Amino acid sequence: MTQTVVILGGSYGGLHVAHALLKQKSDIKVVLVSKSSHFYWNMASVRAIVPGTIPDEQLSQPLSVALERYPKEKYEIIIGAVGKVDPASKTVLISVPGSDRSVAYDQLVIATGARSNPTGPPVPWKHLDSHEETVSSLENVRKQVQAAQSIIVAGAGATGIELAGELAYEFGKTKEITLLCGGQSLLSGDSVGPSAKSALQKLNVKIQLGARVAGATELPDGKTELSLENGETMTTDLYLPTIGMLPNSEMLDATYLSEKGYVVVDASYRVKGLEKDGVWAIGDVVSKPRAGYLITQKQAAGVAKNILLTLQGKQPTNVKLMLVDILACAVGRSSGAGRIGFVKMPGTMVWLAKGRTLGIQQLPGYIDGSVA
Ligand SMILES: Cc1cc2nc3c(=O)[nH]c(=O)nc-3n(C[C@H](O)[C@H](O)[C@H](O)COP(=O)(O)OP(=O)(O)OC[C@H]3O[C@@H](n4cnc5c(N)ncnc54)[C@H](O)[C@@H]3O)c2cc1C
Repeated sequence: MTQTVVILGGSYGGLHVAHALLKQKSDIKVVLVSKSSHFYWNMASVRAIVPGTIPDEQLSQPLSVALERYPKEKYEIIIGAVGKVDPASKTVLISVPGSDRSVAYDQLVIATGARSNPTGPPVPWKHLDSHEETVSSLENVRKQVQAAQSIIVAGAGATGIELAGELAYEFGKTKEITLLCGGQSLLSGDSVGPSAKSALQKLNVKIQLGARVAGATELPDGKTELSLENGETMTTDLYLPTIGMLPNSEMLDATYLSEKGYVVVDASYRVKGLEKDGVWAIGDVVSKPRAGYLITQKQAAGVAKNILLTLQGKQPTNVKLMLVDILACAVGRSSGAGRIGFVKMPGTMVWLAKGRTLGIQQLPGYIDGSVA
């Protein structure tokens, strides 16, 4: 009998699992559910907001194009927002324009990732609620960047560092670019932090440590006033937050989530508490051991394999992640900072491995399925 695998999320994790399952000859139907109709190379968003760098068409491709290579009866794409998962009835509620749909599953993969904190202005580092909103946000931010004389980037994690670097590479001599870091070191104290800091300073980025944003108010003249937790206030033409990512995990009851709202999984990436119910989770919604697309790739491959094992009545195996942790931050279009395990990568190596293209040449592999 045909087994239905419902995959929530059409990004690095979800689309990878869809390809991996559809390539098999087994009797599986894949239902891919996503708010956005497109796969989006979010890693290049920080460069794409600099006018004249990356055309929107290179950043995303329709999910329908990705799956059209498989027999039509083997898959369905639903563009809609996931509501609640009901493990007892093995159904998931999905809001599609004008109605709600209850979709039954035999196996469920949660790959809904994480979103930017909704209290700030809409920013396109991750998918917004639809493809159209993401594209329009990219365009808005591009226009705002062009017009601004001063730009404050909040958050000195990888996204904040890369964003400040891209802005300063293009505008470091003509606009004031400031990076606010909530703690006393970039990248939360990772050993890559000091090299990232000096690469940014070479591009004229002003770095303010111990500067955690408490609130942002838009002023009548269009500028933004930021109040910091240390009592300071700052005014800027453009405020670009990269802080406060939130997991898209509201479809599950809190019992299956960590304190911060991430889905808790076992070593085979089954949701803890739902091990016998065919519910799996991967990617940024899990963030185990941390968020990252390379980690998500391994999880997607492992979970696809485990679903096939489960459907054959076999035990799932532990998902194997990368042997060494790799952290690479591009800093503009000529340098970067990174490490492979504990070994520091020279700036030129980070540029070659990441900064040159921000990985966008890998997007076709997610569309034609060669990634899986
Ligand atoms: C600027 C930047 C640079 C990065 N650089 C690196 C790097 O160098 N190396 C690295 O390993 N990682 C990097 N990452 C992280 C990497 O992009 C993420 O790990 C990756 O996006 C995780 O993919 P995902 O599939 O888990 O979820 P996401 O990409 O967050 O996608 C979630 C999907 O779920 C859908 N969705 C969400 N909620 C719902 C809902 N309620 N209903 C229906 N659909 C929903 C969304 O539309 C989307 O399709 C970077 C990220 C950014 C932003």
